[in-house]
Amino acid sequence: LLQLSVPLNFIGFVYREIRQGLTDIEQMFELLEVEPEVVDKPGARELVIARGAIAFKDVHFAYDPERPILKGISFDVPAGKTVAIVGPSGAGKSTISRLLYRFYDIQGGAITIDGQDLREVTQASLRRVIGMVPQDTVLFNDTVAYNIRYGRPSATEAEVHAAAEVAQIKHFIRTLPDGFDTKVGERGLKLSGGEKQRVAIARTILKSPPILILDEATSALDTTTEHDIQSALDVVSKNRTTLVIAHRLSTVISADEIIVLRDGQIAERGTHVALLEKEGLYASMWNRQREATQAEEQLRKVRESD
Ligand code: ADP
Ligand code: MG
Repeated sequence: LLQLSVPLNFIGFVYREIRQGLTDIEQMFELLEVEPEVVDKPGARELVIARGAIAFKDVHFAYDPERPILKGISFDVPAGKTVAIVGPSGAGKSTISRLLYRFYDIQGGAITIDGQDLREVTQASLRRVIGMVPQDTVLFNDTVAYNIRYGRPSATEAEVHAAAEVAQIKHFIRTLPDGFDTKVGERGLKLSGGEKQRVAIARTILKSPPILILDEATSALDTTTEHDIQSALDVVSKNRTTLVIAHRLSTVISADEIIVLRDGQIAERGTHVALLEKEGLYASMWNRQREATQAEEQLRKVRESD
């Protein structure tokens, strides 16, 4: 399938980029002359966005037929609402986001946006309406400005700066040696996970898509960074249909619905308050995270008083 003339490290780069959902997929495949895993159905129509409502209906999926990953998942993200997916690692949370972006086709059930099955529409039209802020952003080996403008290549310099400001990264960029013209990426200045994520948020703000997928960072961010990222994400997701994969439960309190995924199935669902009252899996995850945070704080106090 892959052309052997393509250097291996480039394939690695492209693979990562594709998984992160940052690249213009069609263009990348053309460039590589690689047959994509998912192909448009002959005569596929353009996705027509009315309000941006997402529906998963009894979705079954496996990367490998021997090992089912999603075992009949049903939920709705009503237009403009936020649904959070939480659950132990390996439960299938990121898989749900990849299926919505149609990196893979499902084996059973249906995923629809405004009633249109993802398999019936072109991938280009689907990906135009979705903004994805992945868990671990890979930047292009180019300037900060290029990396942000990628969200909408026609954006003016003022628009790029405004997006950086909303994403709470403008102040940091100003401190870089060449400001917005500083080269970043693997061959440039290396940014921290939180900085890269805010660049991805700025890019998404420029793209201004009706549907958002956010995969929050797992890495331990300091409280200030986490707060900055959270307020940036709150701005982007306002009034947009948002699917958020949350690692820190403190960020899902205000979600319209929280889905607790375990082992490829929905174990519990409801609002934060309703799930706490249930005293089930969510409540125990919540208590565990709260205890961990309190322990961290106590440790810090002890250190500070030394
Ligand atoms: P989560 O985001 O909840 O931690 P994922 O959706 O990433 O979980 O993964 C769910 C399961 O699918 C895991 O067991 C993982 O090992 C497996 N998996 C993820 N991606 C692939 C892949 N590309 N090929 C095969 N298995 C995969
Ligand atoms: Mg994940």
